[in-house]
Amino acid sequence: MTHRIVVLGAGYAGLGAAKRAAGTAGRDARVTLVNASDRFVERVRLHQVATGQATADLPLAGLLDGTGVELVRARATGIDADARTVRLDGAADLGYDTLVYALGSTADLDAVPGAREHALAIAREADAALLRDRLPGLESVAVVGGGLTGIETAAELAEARPGLRVELVTAGPLGEGLGSRARRHVHRTFARMGVTVHENERVANVAADGLLLESGRDLPADAFVWAAGFRVPSLAADAGLDVDGRGRVRVDGTLRARSHPEVIAVGDVAVLPVRGRAARMSCQIGLPMGLHGGAAAGALARGREPRPVKLRYVSQCVSLGRRDGVVQFTRADDTPIEPAVLTGRAAARVKEAIVRGTVFAMRRPNVAAAF
Ligand SMILES: Cc1cc2nc3c(=O)[nH]c(=O)nc-3n(C[C@H](O)[C@H](O)[C@H](O)COP(=O)(O)OP(=O)(O)OC[C@H]3O[C@@H](n4cnc5c(N)ncnc54)[C@H](O)[C@@H]3O)c2cc1C
Repeated sequence: MTHRIVVLGAGYAGLGAAKRAAGTAGRDARVTLVNASDRFVERVRLHQVATGQATADLPLAGLLDGTGVELVRARATGIDADARTVRLDGAADLGYDTLVYALGSTADLDAVPGAREHALAIAREADAALLRDRLPGLESVAVVGGGLTGIETAAELAEARPGLRVELVTAGPLGEGLGSRARRHVHRTFARMGVTVHENERVANVAADGLLLESGRDLPADAFVWAAGFRVPSLAADAGLDVDGRGRVRVDGTLRARSHPEVIAVGDVAVLPVRGRAARMSCQIGLPMGLHGGAAAGALARGREPRPVKLRYVSQCVSLGRRDGVVQFTRADDTPIEPAVLTGRAAARVKEAIVRGTVFAMRRPNVAAAF
């Protein structure tokens, strides 16, 4: 009997998973990939999209050519875990024997009052396009979030629009996960670019014309970009899968959902400890998770036990516009190796090479899985 593998989401995790599943599952399996759009979105370049830079057009049909994966363009609206069916808006419901859940994440716009009404986001292509379209009319932008996405967004905006007043507000220190040398470089670069940083300031409220900070200060700006955290879709939680407090699926060492072993969760929607710490939502972890998850689905289709996944961090790569950046080398658990930092143009080149490498991995996942 045909083993039906359904993959939800064609981002770094889901696309890699679908292609690996098709390459490993054998002839008696059918792999169907469901995605809201018919193009692959390079999410790690969305700050470039927001500043009007052209990025590659990557139709999923081309990336799937010759793999045997069937692409269904539709929005997944629900999972019936008992009936093993996914509900789709835009296509007929699909039954599965193995489900790979890879729907990624969106901006957490419900984090504080007013954010949903007044803040822009950078998490999805449509968010970035909205920011791009509004940018020409703006004199000031406040970016909320001092993590890697907030840093990259503020730098890209400042570089692309030199006259724009760019401010960054962060609840903790800027670039908290980086080592001190790397953080100093980000501060120096922001000073050069004219980005004003407000550290240890938590946003309480977003209004049409300004941010209200918990310290009582007001920070007026024409627009706000919410880069202070991502949230995952609720489909898994709604279907009764075992999830953490943020709705991410708890998986075992083979990436199978702890509560539903016929479901494999990969990428931002999965919570997996990497060397003792919950994995950071990142392409760096999501992409290899997807490759492994696809092979795990392939193993299940052949009636085999999936192998445990071994993941580790190598570095945190941050672009600071197109000509500067920081590469912070890390231990396997993501903690920074203090003096091991690359900065400036060399770091920008390394980051660009890595981003191109992710597209190579989407084209040739079997090669990528060998690393
Ligand atoms: C501006 C920016 C810069 C970043 N830079 C880096 C970086 O430098 N390094 C790094 O490691 N990480 C970076 N990240 C994080 C990284 O992009 C994510 O962690 C990564 O994309 C997660 O991959 P994923 O496959 O889980 O999800 P995604 O890439 O988000 O893919 C999810 C897919 O599911 C589809 N989908 C969602 N809901 C539905 C639905 N209901 N029905 C059908 N389809 C649906 C989406 O359209 C999408 O195709 C960055 C993120 C942003 C926003």
